[in-house]
Amino acid sequence: MTPFPAGAVDALAHGLEDYRLTTPTDQQTPAEAAVAAAEYLVALGYTVTHQEHPMPMTPDHWTTIRGLVAWLDQQNGRDQQEITLRLLKLTEESGEVAQAWIGTTGQNPRKGTTHSVEDVADELCDVIVTAAVALASLVDDPAGHLYTKLRRIAERPRTP
Ligand SMILES: [Mg+2]
Repeated sequence: MTPFPAGAVDALAHGLEDYRLTTPTDQQTPAEAAVAAAEYLVALGYTVTHQEHPMPMTPDHWTTIRGLVAWLDQQNGRDQQEITLRLLKLTEESGEVAQAWIGTTGQNPRKGTTHSVEDVADELCDVIVTAAVALASLVDDPAGHLYTKLRRIAERPRTP
């Protein structure tokens, strides 16, 4: 899921604890604590690099998605029919995007203008979340899958 290894979290925790125990409380600063934690990381062989293409969704976001998957699993199980319904849900949400967009135009004289562009944006977000839930229901590493896909798209030439 997150590319941050558990050993690195332990190293950070040890570095922070060491700083807390060896530095008088009234002299502790967040910046020095961060340096102490970073020194532990480096001492244990970890390196920190900046990703040119950061993860499209944060680990916190994927925790939310996994929570939705776990809730659906608990309520419905996750057999082939349930996965089919999670995929069909994407079609439902896509239809709501179309409904909202049509609603911004007032194209139906009987209804008039019923939606705003913000409504359309909200429905697009529903599509993204629904797709993420379906993806996380299908593969073990949805974050890695999305990251790899987006990196390939970013690197793809845009000329024929
Ligand atoms: Mg919706």
